[in-house]
Amino acid sequence: MARVYNFSAGPSMLPESVLKKAAAEMLDYEGSGQSVMEMSHRSKVFDNIIKSAEALLREIMNIPDNYKVLFLQGGGSTQFAMVALNLMNKNNKADYIITGQWAKKAYQEAKRYGDVKVVASSEDKTYTYIPKTDRSMFREDADYVYICMNNTIYGTVYHELPDTGDIPLVADISSCILSEPIDVSKFGLLFAGAQKNMAGAGLTIAIVREDLIGNAMDFTPTMLNYATHADKDSLYNTPPCYQIYIAKLVLEWIKNEVGGLDKMKELNEKKAKLLYDFLDSSELFKGTVVAEDRSLMNVPFVTGDKDMDAKFVEEATKAGLVNIKGHRTVGGMRASIYNAMPYEGVEKLVEFMKKFEAENK
Ligand SMILES: *Cc1c(COP(=O)(O)O)cnc(C)c1O
Repeated sequence: MARVYNFSAGPSMLPESVLKKAAAEMLDYEGSGQSVMEMSHRSKVFDNIIKSAEALLREIMNIPDNYKVLFLQGGGSTQFAMVALNLMNKNNKADYIITGQWAKKAYQEAKRYGDVKVVASSEDKTYTYIPKTDRSMFREDADYVYICMNNTIYGTVYHELPDTGDIPLVADISSCILSEPIDVSKFGLLFAGAQKNMAGAGLTIAIVREDLIGNAMDFTPTMLNYATHADKDSLYNTPPCYQIYIAKLVLEWIKNEVGGLDKMKELNEKKAKLLYDFLDSSELFKGTVVAEDRSLMNVPFVTGDKDMDAKFVEEATKAGLVNIKGHRTVGGMRASIYNAMPYEGVEKLVEFMKKFEAENK
């Protein structure tokens, strides 16, 4: 069986050992005689799975005790409304930094519920950089400041967080969760769709400071109220059981096989460096992002010639390097090199790019 190197932005690769373990346990999870997919979410066996997943996430991300970890559904996109409905509750104001389509969508959703201001944007240069901000740019009475930490489509990341003073900082970490250590205490709320770095599609994680829970707008649907899920330990209704189980396996992989997030970061930096160094030396390919804001997870690049880009994507696919076509709004290519992409995958890609460059001079 030949597995491809999948550079998709999401859903994306999972560690092979996780897939093998899930396969081995498919028919009979730990002697229960059932698949996790078939099991009651109220059963003791599943309760162990969700509790272990939460404990592992808390340990690996070093999540302080005054934060709730919620296992939700609806993807990152549902959080765009949920954040606003739950947190824009004191002055009905929020400030957004627009660093790409995901932040823009979050802003547009929040705008339906209150006074929402764009304080900075990098739209002027197709989101190829992170705009600089300082504390004075934020409204003192804003209920929160919102950022998208890693911009999946454009390949930028916040290496340094905006200084928001006492205003809670909210971040979409869908495409960088678990890729490196993050100081959770600097945030009011973090959320992530799981399908990029954590599990399959269908699970969304929210990490919410406790004092921000319980003051949702009156008309907030029950299922979109963080309190509903926080009060019932994410078991108000049927959670995405199987993906919570996969997340548990991925967390065990990070803890036991990788050795934690410092180690994960090291591996991710090594992978990204290989690709960025090649891009910086290539005469055919070039990265699209300013050097200081480059993402470790998503690496967009172009040749500057649409037909050449298309030829590259086609030939790469034939060579087992799949899903490398760039987002339709950027064009060119994008290599998403999340946690589960092995170093050899990036090596293969760079070798292939060198060969392609030599043949297409
Ligand atoms: C993929 C992605 C989303 C959207 O996630 P869905 O789960 O598809 O709703 C939101 N934000 C970021 C940063 C993403 O990468």
